[in-house]
Amino acid sequence: MNIERKKPHNALKQTHLDLKSFSLSGFSISGLATYHLLPELNFAVDMGECPISAIPIDHVFLTHAHGDHSRCLMRHHSLRKMMNIPKDAAYYLSESIYKQAVQWIRSEALFEGVPEDRIQTPNLIPLKTGQKTHLQYRKNLALEAFEVNHSVPALGFTLFDYKKKLKEEYLSYSPQEIIQLRKNNTLITNDIYTPIITFMGDCRSDSLTSNDSIWNSPVLVMECTFIDENEETMATKKGHTHLNQIIQIFNEKKEEIRCETIVLNHFSMKYSTKHIINTLKQKLPDFIKNKVMLMI
Ligand SMILES: [Zn+2]
Ligand SMILES: [Zn+2]
Repeated sequence: MNIERKKPHNALKQTHLDLKSFSLSGFSISGLATYHLLPELNFAVDMGECPISAIPIDHVFLTHAHGDHSRCLMRHHSLRKMMNIPKDAAYYLSESIYKQAVQWIRSEALFEGVPEDRIQTPNLIPLKTGQKTHLQYRKNLALEAFEVNHSVPALGFTLFDYKKKLKEEYLSYSPQEIIQLRKNNTLITNDIYTPIITFMGDCRSDSLTSNDSIWNSPVLVMECTFIDENEETMATKKGHTHLNQIIQIFNEKKEEIRCETIVLNHFSMKYSTKHIINTLKQKLPDFIKNKVMLMI
C-alpha cells in the first residue's frame, strides 16, 4: 500500500500523489475542507480551501454545495481577478444547485459591499448527468457527471480523454482518398472517450454499486469517512461511506475492478493519521492493498 504522509488537519498543507501521467494534490478531511488539484489536466475538484497553487487552474468541478467543499469558489474567482488572469475560470456544478449558487454569490457580494449593478457572476456551467461536456479550455478532455447518494444533491463524475479515430473501414485508404472523403463531408472518424480519473465526491456506499462504469476508470477517488467498528449505520445516516462497506464492495467487485489506483480520502477529523494507516493496513484485503493510496 502506498501511503503519503503529512501533518494532518492543516487544509493548506497538501498531500501529493504521483499518478503516472499526472499528479493529484490536495487535502480532504471531512467537515474541514476538501479540494483536489490536477495541474497537468488544468482541472480542480471542489474548493473547500483555495491554496495559491489552485489559482492558475482554469476548470473547477463542484461536487456539491456543502461549505467544506465549496466555500472558496468565489475566493478562487476573486484571486484570479486580483492577479489579472484574463480568462474566466469555468466552474462546473449540478444544474440542480445552479440557481442557489447564483443567489449565494450575489448575497456574498452584497455582504462585502459590492454595489448591486457591479456584481459579476463567475462562469458557472450547469451540468446534466449522463452527458459528455468538453472542458472550456481543453477540448481534448470531457467530463460526464452521475448522481450520487449524499445528504444533499451531489455529483460524482469521470474525466475522459477525447480523440477522433479513423473508422476501421477507412484504415487502408490512401491520404488522397481520405482527403477526398473529407471534401465530400463523409464521416470517417469515431469519437473515442477514454476514462482518466473518476471522483465519487461525498456519498453513501450504494453509489459505488449503482455506477458500474467507475470500476473501469484507471484512477478512482472515493470517500472513506468512517473506519471504526460499529459506525456503519451512522455513516449511512450522515450520507457517507464506511471502510467496511468499501471492503465488502471490493470483494464483490473483485473481478470487475480495472482501476490501477484507488485513492481513499475524506476521513473524519476524529481519527489520527496513525490510526487511519494502521486500520487500513489491517483491514484492506491483500488483492487491493497495492492499488490504494491515501489522502490524509
Ligand atoms: Zn464532505
Ligand atoms: Zn457533503
